[in-house]
Amino acid sequence: MDKITVIGSVALDTIRTPRQRFKDVLGGSATYFSISASFFTKVNLIATVGKDFPVKYRNIIESFGINTLGLETKEGRTFRWEGSYVDDLNCAKTINTELNVFAQFRPVVPKEYKNSKIVFLANIDPDLQNHILRCFDGRCIVGCDSMNYWIKNKPASLKRLIKKVTFMFLNDSEARLFSGEDNVIKAGKFLLSLGSRFAIIKRGEYGAVLFSDNSIIFLTPAFLLEDVCDPTGAGDAFAGGFLGYLAKKRKIDIQSVRKALLYGSVMASFAIEDFSIRRFLSLKKEDILDRYYNFIRLTMA
Ligand code: AMP
Repeated sequence: MDKITVIGSVALDTIRTPRQRFKDVLGGSATYFSISASFFTKVNLIATVGKDFPVKYRNIIESFGINTLGLETKEGRTFRWEGSYVDDLNCAKTINTELNVFAQFRPVVPKEYKNSKIVFLANIDPDLQNHILRCFDGRCIVGCDSMNYWIKNKPASLKRLIKKVTFMFLNDSEARLFSGEDNVIKAGKFLLSLGSRFAIIKRGEYGAVLFSDNSIIFLTPAFLLEDVCDPTGAGDAFAGGFLGYLAKKRKIDIQSVRKALLYGSVMASFAIEDFSIRRFLSLKKEDILDRYYNFIRLTMA
């Protein structure tokens, strides 16, 4: 199996859903990605937290076998994000973003991370994503995610980055915002036109669409659940399942990429069953396989 190095946020999230409110729970794009991918392969984490980051949260991350050599603790407060799903369970509304220690973060890539074959640039400042990418061999497979906040604040940096990306992940509303297109196919083609080899547009409970060679090459519905507890992290868990599966397979032919999209959907469905990363604490590899085969049964004619 190939190792994956991820850079992104490790956060304290405050989340509102129509039924509940969770304060300062473990979150962050890199957290969800790493935990999800750890069910498939070895993951190296690069991020920063403040002195207020609870030891129990670091222990949780490490309990998944994730390498935290690149997780720095700095003077100051941990990145915080407050989001609400009260109006729409499919789409987070950002109430507040505090970059805190991430504002000064100049990451150093540990030597033992440098042999990673896959790099995932989880949602964080695109200048940081660009900086990390320069520290790796140009032959790496590169996944990248972003969000409205960075699309609005640093569109030029994001465009520069996409040229070097193998798999660009965005959700529906982010892809529309970035491309200025209302239509999802046009938005996908726009991402390809910026230089990404594949583009994956995530559509919440409506599934995901995979683009390459200027067209759609695969579509999948979402694995529907009766009870959604907390949609936070679905996108990152999706990317973790997707790249984790490809890292385990060690190839990116079309068949594997299609299966990876299904594994991504399966991991996203687990993320939203409980709040924060809680569902992953009891998740077993057999549960993932069971849901994967169930998903195939439900979607094949
Ligand atoms: P998602 O998979 O899109 O639901 O990602 C949710 C995670 O992204 C949350 O746990 C947040 O801590 C994190 N997040 C939210 N806004 C940002 C941002 N501007 N930069 C980096 N991470 C963020």
